[in-house]
Amino acid sequence: MSTAETFDHTAIRAYLRRAAAAIDRHADYLTRLDEALGDGDHGDNLQLGFRSLRVVVDDASDPDATHIGFLLRTVGRSLAANVGGASGPLYATAFIEAADVAGDATAVSGPRLAAMLRAAAAGVARRGRCDVGDKTILDTLQPAADAMAGKLDAGGSFADALRAGGPAAVRGMRSTRALVARRGLAIRLGERSVGHLDPGAVSCLLLVRALAPSAAERRRVPVASEAAE
Ligand code: ADP
Ligand code: MG
Repeated sequence: MSTAETFDHTAIRAYLRRAAAAIDRHADYLTRLDEALGDGDHGDNLQLGFRSLRVVVDDASDPDATHIGFLLRTVGRSLAANVGGASGPLYATAFIEAADVAGDATAVSGPRLAAMLRAAAAGVARRGRCDVGDKTILDTLQPAADAMAGKLDAGGSFADALRAGGPAAVRGMRSTRALVARRGLAIRLGERSVGHLDPGAVSCLLLVRALAPSAAERRRVPVASEAAE
């Protein structure tokens, strides 16, 4: 491991490209999941939103573009403006809360990244007025953020954090199948929401999984193994 490991705006731009590609690839699946529990638009909502990020990701011309906080705040605002549906403001909040922690740093180290992850999860919980167990994005994000932050705070490398965060995210995502929805459109189904994965929990898994720079590492985090439902 390397205690000097840091992430700069280039690494974060690369992450955002991977995240957008993952959402593109799985958009139909996300929308199908939302057809069972909601209104059948989750994949389309996120696809439009993450496509809109390309401008942000490719434009490093602003003098503040190397500041992690500036970059992530711009991402959050773009998602807020371009993702229709409940998930837009929630993911926007996650990025903006992380941006606040990063501030004008041009590179963040492990412990700062840990604080950013925790802030992102806390932001979703506050904005969505949700807890773990409500069958939402947070069921993936909170355990993933906790697992990754735990490793990073203990001096672990980013690779260590991902090795803990990936499985935690998968477990969290899968836990939503057995839950009764307590937030979002799926509330309308009551007990009938049991038996379906929450679309937001699955999209969040994609966003966590995309943190891994290497395709080999990402393949260790299964996404679509439960796709055939
Ligand atoms: P909409 O429900 O408005 O159509 P999307 O389909 O884009 O929006 O997103 C649905 C997902 O948003 C759900 O699967 C759930 O994970 C998440 N979600 C909805 N409401 C909340 C909330 N209050 N807190 C956390 N997540 C929520
Ligand atoms: Mg929807």
